[in-house]
Amino acid sequence: MNTTPHDLAAAFADRFGSEPDGLWAAPGRVNVIGEHTDYNDGFVLPFAITHSTTVAVAVRPNRMVRVASTFAPDDDPVTVDLDTLEEGSVTGWAAYPLGVLWAMEHSGYRCPGMDILVDSSVPVGAGLSSSAALECAVGVAANDLSEAGISRRELATIGQLAENRMVGAPTGVMDQSASLFGEVGHAVFLDCRSGESRLVPLDLEGAGLELMVIDTRVSHSHSSGGYAARRRSCELGAELMGVPALRDLSVEDLAEAAGVLDEETFRRVRHIVTENARVEDAVDILSRKGPADLGPVLVASHASMRDDFEISCPELDTAVDAALDAGALGARMTGGGFGGAAIALARVDDVPAIRAAVEAAFSSAGYPEPAIFGVLPGAGAGRVA
Ligand code: ADP
Ligand code: MG
Repeated sequence: MNTTPHDLAAAFADRFGSEPDGLWAAPGRVNVIGEHTDYNDGFVLPFAITHSTTVAVAVRPNRMVRVASTFAPDDDPVTVDLDTLEEGSVTGWAAYPLGVLWAMEHSGYRCPGMDILVDSSVPVGAGLSSSAALECAVGVAANDLSEAGISRRELATIGQLAENRMVGAPTGVMDQSASLFGEVGHAVFLDCRSGESRLVPLDLEGAGLELMVIDTRVSHSHSSGGYAARRRSCELGAELMGVPALRDLSVEDLAEAAGVLDEETFRRVRHIVTENARVEDAVDILSRKGPADLGPVLVASHASMRDDFEISCPELDTAVDAALDAGALGARMTGGGFGGAAIALARVDDVPAIRAAVEAAFSSAGYPEPAIFGVLPGAGAGRVA
């Protein structure tokens, strides 16, 4: 939805019978490059998009929390007592916002009770992390309202903790970091080991470019098998190579790894090691040349995910191949894989032809029509009203 702040405040009053104390928003993200590197202590290069999740929040005089979403307009608010909230005690969508409050308290901060109404323009399950947008919107709101003074870095960790322990999805900290640290016209280069991030210029508009998101609408679930299996392979590879994480291997170490690891584990490891190198290349290219030169690293990243990490699927490969054939500068699947979205970097003038080519390729393969839209680097999480 694209509700205005005024409309959301009115919807809040309708739901909860009082005015909100304020509105906070946090963006979704798209990852330019660096896939599955986050939980290997490696590098990622996401940017915050202009699609965001907004929460209207009012503090309550007790420890009760009520949370509702415009996505479920007919449902009663989910109501919990903060004193009885524990890991795994909430299921469904409310596990994301309530998980953040649980994670804050688990990290030693005290939250007041509150009423929360959630609204979002981030497409769900399209690889743009509507989940982190929701977590970060609740995180910045609760941080402000409780005057806890939590740093953005710790808020990112709190969002991750909510997703890992309350929702039960073993994800890294990239999505929350992008949502919290993003800025207009910039990508966020994140070192997932230190948690340090720095902004890298990414002025797509100025370069006459657009990043197209091609949502295949093939559903993926991070909680299910493939993602967990890739994590286990990475842990095994690091253990057998005697390093704390795959981050500690360089491209030069791959020759040795080929002799130590079984064939499948080696390919998993090779994806992570080369992907980290590609992220560093991408940062270098953006800093020295600009986004129009990013194409080849995006294409190489896709090939590595398709062939070595084996997390692509026919629909994603079709999207990437059709986009490249129709003139995209680069394209790759993005997100956890097994469905979700691909991205294509394109000159603005070429966008209509690329869109038509991807749609035609999907149609002739018998796939459902993909959802295709452009994203630009937008602002990070904060108070909006
Ligand atoms: P994504 O790739 O979009 O992050 P996830 O499966 O990780 O996909 O998270 C999507 C889930 O987050 C939804 O199924 C829902 O439970 C929750 N969610 C996201 N946005 C909202 C919203 N506006 N209202 C309610 N729940 C939401
Ligand atoms: Mg998610």
